[in-house]
Amino acid sequence: MSAVPKLDTIGEREVDDALKEAHIPSLMAALVHLTGDASLLTDENKPVYDFFGDGQGNIKPEVQEQVRAVVKHAWLDYARGKKLPPPPPHQTIRRMMDFVAGAQIPERYVPFLKEELGIAVEDTRVPRWDSPKLKDAAAKMKVVIVGAGLSGLLSGVRLSQAGVPFEIIEKNPDVGGTWFENAYPGCRVDNPNHMYSFSFEPNHHWPQHFSTQPVLLAYFRRMADKYELRKHIRFETQVTEAVWDEQTSRWHVHVRDKDGKKETLIANAVISAVGQLNQPRIPEFKGREKFKGHAFHTARWRHDVDLTGKRVAVIGTGATAFQVIPEIAPKVAHLDVYQRSAPWLGPTPDYHKDVGEGKKWLLEHIPYYDKWYRFWLFWTLTDGILDGVAVDPSWNDTSKSVSPANDMLRGMLIQAIEAQAPHRPDLIQKVIPDYPFGSKRSVRDNGVYIAALARPNVDLITTGIREITENGIVTEDGMEHPAEVIIYGTGFHASDFLRTYRIVGRDGVELHEKWKGDARAYLGMNIPGFPNFFCIYGPNTNIVVNGSIIFFSEASVRYIVNALKLLAETGAKSMEVRADIHDDFNRRVDEENKKMAWGLPDAKSWYKNQFGRVSQNWPWRLVDYWNATVAPNPDDFTLT
Ligand code: NAP
Repeated sequence: MSAVPKLDTIGEREVDDALKEAHIPSLMAALVHLTGDASLLTDENKPVYDFFGDGQGNIKPEVQEQVRAVVKHAWLDYARGKKLPPPPPHQTIRRMMDFVAGAQIPERYVPFLKEELGIAVEDTRVPRWDSPKLKDAAAKMKVVIVGAGLSGLLSGVRLSQAGVPFEIIEKNPDVGGTWFENAYPGCRVDNPNHMYSFSFEPNHHWPQHFSTQPVLLAYFRRMADKYELRKHIRFETQVTEAVWDEQTSRWHVHVRDKDGKKETLIANAVISAVGQLNQPRIPEFKGREKFKGHAFHTARWRHDVDLTGKRVAVIGTGATAFQVIPEIAPKVAHLDVYQRSAPWLGPTPDYHKDVGEGKKWLLEHIPYYDKWYRFWLFWTLTDGILDGVAVDPSWNDTSKSVSPANDMLRGMLIQAIEAQAPHRPDLIQKVIPDYPFGSKRSVRDNGVYIAALARPNVDLITTGIREITENGIVTEDGMEHPAEVIIYGTGFHASDFLRTYRIVGRDGVELHEKWKGDARAYLGMNIPGFPNFFCIYGPNTNIVVNGSIIFFSEASVRYIVNALKLLAETGAKSMEVRADIHDDFNRRVDEENKKMAWGLPDAKSWYKNQFGRVSQNWPWRLVDYWNATVAPNPDDFTLT
């Protein structure tokens, strides 16, 4: 619940100033909690959002003023000690949801969104293993978690709450995973932070709407401290192999520390939380080894290499390079950017902007404002936009767009790109993607990228790379482009799931040999033949346009902890997903992915594996993952 400040520390002027920064639809919902009065939530006042709008849903200025005035008085009464009315009844919450979203939210979303909103008295995601039987069973368990990134930490939080002993093995010297490793200049999150944070761990003081890597890393470090997770973590230790022992129904997890000391940990279950985007991929360019200057991958940034005044080449224009280029362009003598395909740029004016002090104050002090603001971000940035990237079967030519809505969006995005460099038609022509929006991950644009590409010291090279020489890069047209530093923004071995260690399941089957480069799992977590082994951010749990990976992490961890609870309740020693359930699920995943822009036969991205199968993405809505993962269905498993 929001903190109530002492009135002598805040005057009416400050409240007025803070309210100027309010997201009005969220404030209108918060007002219902303050007063119990929902009479302002009329159809006439209902927000109507548009793509390039300010997010206030075109609510009339006089209504906005009225809302601010009413909230101010209601809040002052509250701060003077007036009690909040009882929580709004279900029907009112329902109305509030539709109102804030500016949409008719289907009924099946309501339980899911209510939980995301977090307005229930009890957090339903906290595991409750209350009975003596469960407590006893929990205490006898041991779980090994691989990785102390955001999902590994979350697993630790939940297992602590369940009373299950666990150990986290982390190869790095600190927590944070991808947010620890990716420390390149310009690195920041591309989901709004008030959504890209754990539902149970809000931060009302995010300095920016899209915070930088050090801020994100600090958030995860604080979380490790607050939940006393560090004592459970072995840092600088690598899991080399996990082997299932049928006799004892235990995993033998082989680890090696930084000094080479080996040890075997015995566990009832393994949670693999190793991420997808942390094994750098550098293409096998001919002659790469001949290059005499410094060359490094963005995820292994060489902070000791000063780029000032150097001739630099950046290969790639994905989400990472897109962030690097504007940062380094002003300091280098010359920058060559090698683009194979252009990213779609999504206009995001507040991408680099600070969160105003007023906004922070509102988030912290107006009861439920933070919840509704998060709800609004969640709805408008997740399932609310998925239809725009679904392939319309009656749409004839899918080379540039996949439906009327997708085509309209394409037109609007192109307009926004063109407006950025009207004097550089040559550049504009190169940066307009030649594939439909949604086929690849789009990026957040506030103008700095095209401004960097338009600089006199920057060249955008779209001719393919033939080879790398001692002194630079030769393109297919035979031109040699000298470089002193080459930066590979060429992505990760994303389809090569869990590639850092061997996993040997039932009958001695090794997981990677079973997968043969085509990783599959049930709900991204369970694999037949690998009992009590759970992946987080496993196959087909990534999203392209809708939502944040934190959502998937929270859903998966709840499911996994409930799976352990199932073992504790039934007394079974192991649970293994049924092969028919797994296969049928994957068949449906493949069918559905083909109906999305990223699943088109011509779409090329890291979402597809070497066989052209989309092995990364969840094709459905978030609500579907939520529903599927509230708890495991015992019928999906063989319990032994
Ligand atoms: P990426 O999206 O895989 O981009 C790799 C880039 O390198 C692409 O432009 C690719 O071109 C190019 N490339 C690869 N091989 C090449 C070759 N042989 N020749 C020429 N160009 C080549 O990798 P990323 O940018 O590191 O991003 C990966 C993912 O990480 C993102 O999609 C996102 O999910 C996540 N990420 C998130 C954030 C954030 O939250 N802020 C930031 C960075 C990354 P093609 O496009 O033609 O393949």
